Amino acid sequence: MINALAIDTEEWFHSELLGGQRPPIFQVCEATQQVLDLLDRQQVKASFFIVGEVAERYPDLVRKIIERGHEIGCHGFSHHPLWKLDEDLFREEMKRFHKVMKDILARDRIKGFRAPCFSIDHRTTWALKVLVDFGYRYDASVFPVKLNPHYGVRGAPLRPYRISLKDVRKEDPASPLIEFPTVPLRLWKLKIPLAGGFYLRLFPVSFLEWGLRRINRDQPFLLYFHPWEGFSETPRLNLPRINRFISYYGIGTALKKLEYLLSYFNFSRVDHVLGLI
Ligand SMILES: [Zn+2]
Repeated sequence: MINALAIDTEEWFHSELLGGQRPPIFQVCEATQQVLDLLDRQQVKASFFIVGEVAERYPDLVRKIIERGHEIGCHGFSHHPLWKLDEDLFREEMKRFHKVMKDILARDRIKGFRAPCFSIDHRTTWALKVLVDFGYRYDASVFPVKLNPHYGVRGAPLRPYRISLKDVRKEDPASPLIEFPTVPLRLWKLKIPLAGGFYLRLFPVSFLEWGLRRINRDQPFLLYFHPWEGFSETPRLNLPRINRFISYYGIGTALKKLEYLLSYFNFSRVDHVLGLI
């Protein structure tokens, strides 16, 4: 069973939980370098979903990721969740992203999208048509568990599916777009997210291994990780208690956990897992 690995390549200040605070400390290159070195050690290829602002500022980072054999995907231009945009503003964001990428890559070969903050849901279904218009082949944004007030789609499929452009919860065999949701662990009637981000930092590695192995009995999962989550120098802002916990808990051990999971499970680029290359 081969699982998909998504690296959401953004600055530490792009997180919505920081409430728009953006002290000018730039660390994405150092933080991503750690992840690139880890992937080389484990001989794993991944999909790097890059924020356009980051690519514009650090074109060499994008080139380095490609040289090492990884896939480049889109994580928006400015990292605004799509529920803060409308269709026209989203098209503008995508135009800016692709202009930057064309300057860096000469040839535009991007086929995968991950919305900031899992923000493709019933409020933003219009975004799927925009992705098709820009030539995207897959999306990896749907979070099929409703726990968080800001994101989550109750009732969406729990495995990759051809996503209806009219309803993110529905399959449509004729759809040009494949959706790879963030698959949760199913335990009795519970759906427990564990494949990445805060959930990876929160749970002990023994539980992650057990839960992910259970998912792998039937299907692949998509694991996601932000470079700032494994970087010891990520600035710690004075946030409300819960946001502080979600943002910073487990940063010191996250990279080690990721390395363990990479050595235990098989991983590859999302486009590879979906049979798109
Ligand atoms: Zn993000």
